[in-house]
Amino acid sequence: MKLVFDKGMNLSEVEVIRHYTLLSRRNFGVDLGFYPLGSCTMKYNPKINEEMAKLEGFSLIHPLQPESTVQGALQLMFELEKMLSEICGFERFSLQPAAGAHGELTGIMIIQAYFKKKGETRTKILVPDSAHGTNPASVSMCGFESVEIKSDKDGNIDLEDLKEKIGEDVAGIMITNPNTLGLFDSNIEQVCKIVHDKGGLVYGDGANMNAMLGICKPCELGIDVMHLNLHKSFATPHGGGGPGSGPVGVVEKLVEFLPGPLVEKDGEKYKFGEISENSIGKVRSFYGNFGVMVKAFTYLKAIGNAGCKEVAEIAVLNANYLKEKLKGHFKLPFDRVCQHEFVLSDEGMPNEVRTNDIAKRLMDYGFHPPTVYFPLIVKGAIMIEPTETETKETLDSFVEAMLKIKKEVEENPELVKGAPNSMPVKRLDAVKAAREPDLRWKKP
Ligand SMILES: *Cc1c(COP(=O)(O)O)cnc(C)c1O
Repeated sequence: MKLVFDKGMNLSEVEVIRHYTLLSRRNFGVDLGFYPLGSCTMKYNPKINEEMAKLEGFSLIHPLQPESTVQGALQLMFELEKMLSEICGFERFSLQPAAGAHGELTGIMIIQAYFKKKGETRTKILVPDSAHGTNPASVSMCGFESVEIKSDKDGNIDLEDLKEKIGEDVAGIMITNPNTLGLFDSNIEQVCKIVHDKGGLVYGDGANMNAMLGICKPCELGIDVMHLNLHKSFATPHGGGGPGSGPVGVVEKLVEFLPGPLVEKDGEKYKFGEISENSIGKVRSFYGNFGVMVKAFTYLKAIGNAGCKEVAEIAVLNANYLKEKLKGHFKLPFDRVCQHEFVLSDEGMPNEVRTNDIAKRLMDYGFHPPTVYFPLIVKGAIMIEPTETETKETLDSFVEAMLKIKKEVEENPELVKGAPNSMPVKRLDAVKAAREPDLRWKKP
């Protein structure tokens, strides 16, 4: 079908409706099919979250309203903070940061403020080579030098390399656990101890919290400050730049540096507390993306304590199921029990078929491609995260598609290299699109 666009700007209502309905049908989302985009936790987002966020008492309030008129909203923020603190074992959380990367920046600023108050000059922050690109970016934005730490042969942080690079000029380390290979770093307690022994702090990138919910508390592993991605682990639709939320939690000694104000309970009333004089200040206008907080709150209330644990258990089970089904057919560089995701490699693919080709071919089979070429330490990485919300039937149909593609790679490689073959457009020039973006609509 053809999109309606040839009549200039004078369109009838039905033409506009058809245009947008057609466009929406060309979109792909988790409500339409399997979306195994690794590191992004594209779980199904229950619709009750949207219903709650839409309630007038939440959606029509203004951040400048008197506190006495928004007691329910304040209570929700207060209780959400308590739940997140319980999940992670932290003393307090600030709900202000608007995304994971923003939480990282906030966390690094907190580390900076901590050393400033102590009167210590520390210039470096260690970042493992498997880290998400936002980690070294956050470090640099705060004026620290980012120092790369190698991974060892099992995919953990290399302790020898860490010992060589740690010193009293190191403010801290940024750790993602499970890491971006989908592996629980079995050295984590030692890593934290080595850094703490030199007076440094440990930052936790909590994007992979889905694997640990209700099972282990980051604080108990030795993490001092960490962000969560409410839009990933706690079920808000994301991707395409929609609103997110990256609350930052801290251990007791860092509470005074958190961005304020925090919500306090005073008798039966809720109110914004005083901002501490050592606070890094506000990191966002008003209080953060409140709608995402409502969704995370609803989600947590709906699943409860037992549900949290089940989320992690099934997420891990699903990932291991897929990994075991695929590992004989695609190279699995780190063959260990994985957490909520795992990473394959295109090494050894015949007929010069590469990761990108496989990803595009998956679209022909009705699946969103996995994350590709990340983490950088795996050649031609294919990072698959099924999440806990998929059925065994869906996982099996994905395996079936992957195995068919593997057969095509061997028998009919051009089919795979030319993919996608069934989409409205063929293979796009992603490099050109990034370098020379042309966003203006032109008459077809
Ligand atoms: C998604 C992600 C981030 C960044 O989070 P945003 O909310 O997208 O800013 C950081 N680290 C890891 C490991 C991630 O997966």
